[in-house]
Amino acid sequence: MLFDPRPKSRREEIFDREKELNSLLKGMEEYPITVLIGIRRVGKSSLLRVTLNEFDGLGLYLDARRLYASGGGMISPAVLVDEIRKILLGKGRFGFLSGIKLESVNLAGIKIKPKETTIIDIFELLNGLGEKFGRVVLAFDEAQYLRFYGPRGGKDLLAGMAYAYDSLPNLGFVFTGSEVGLLHDFIGIDDYSSPLFGRVYEEVEVKPFPRELSEAFLREGFEEVGLKVPEGEIKRAVDELDGIPGWLVEFGFNYWKSGSFERAMERTVERARAMIREELLELEKRSPRYSLILRAIAMGLSRWREVKDYVEAKSGPITNARLSALLKNLEKMGWVRKENGEYRIIDPLVEKILKG
Ligand code: ADP
Ligand code: MG
Repeated sequence: MLFDPRPKSRREEIFDREKELNSLLKGMEEYPITVLIGIRRVGKSSLLRVTLNEFDGLGLYLDARRLYASGGGMISPAVLVDEIRKILLGKGRFGFLSGIKLESVNLAGIKIKPKETTIIDIFELLNGLGEKFGRVVLAFDEAQYLRFYGPRGGKDLLAGMAYAYDSLPNLGFVFTGSEVGLLHDFIGIDDYSSPLFGRVYEEVEVKPFPRELSEAFLREGFEEVGLKVPEGEIKRAVDELDGIPGWLVEFGFNYWKSGSFERAMERTVERARAMIREELLELEKRSPRYSLILRAIAMGLSRWREVKDYVEAKSGPITNARLSALLKNLEKMGWVRKENGEYRIIDPLVEKILKG
């Protein structure tokens, strides 16, 4: 069902995205590294899961953000190794890897005993599985959080990936990221000090639906649940929510449950408020000034100088360099966009909530 608010994992559950799915699939099949980018709630995780299901080889899904949160703000190498082992064992149980006892069989010249296994051992094992079962893909959702892997900003993991890139042809990686700039910084293809410097990768971007498609999406969703909704309301919904599937689904679901445009929109904003509050709290842990800056921009203070005046009025002096760094980060994290010297909040619902 299109209006099911949970992340989707089967092809028939998602609307459109044919082109993106095919590019991502091609990336999984042919490239050592594929990067899937897009703003929050645009449908990356859903597309990734759907594509992993369509993928002919063996695909492993890992949520880097969840690993980071459950590790109390870090991802320990042992935990990552263990997570991959668990997924493999789970797949073994469901028959994907029938005939292979992962605890004992030595596939690529190594035994996976939990304690002494390194990430390189695991990559070699996966490559070995790839030889037998077709390609293996390790997919890291919200991969910018991998910068909290180990003590060196994730460099050890990147070094392992660079080794895999050069020497393990049956193993590929997919990285998704909402914080697009941070993800690119982490992977460091353009950074000579990064282990992955200069490597080739495939990039797929998931964008919000354009107007026409957003309306078509709502129409199809309503038809699916047998609801007749006036065209005018569909247009108004897209005016307020833009083409961000996460919000359109939330709205459609709430309309279906409540039967009223007004109530559906209210509940959607309520839900969004709760989600965005969480995200802002996380931002504030990095710097308490982030929300002040976002609030200023949401209120229409779009020029650098105006933002600075607002922030200083609220929380005291800030150096130009510091403010510029924070603004740059907000761009990298996908909160704001800079156009012709003016800052804008990317997601209209985020803007509305910050204002109110
Ligand atoms: P992201 O990972 O980019 O933040 P998600 O994949 O979690 O986005 O999508 C947010 C919500 O929007 C999901 O719970 C899912 O139900 C819905 N969704 C996203 N893309 C689509 C789509 N193409 N068709 C139907 N629902 C979608
Ligand atoms: Mg996601």
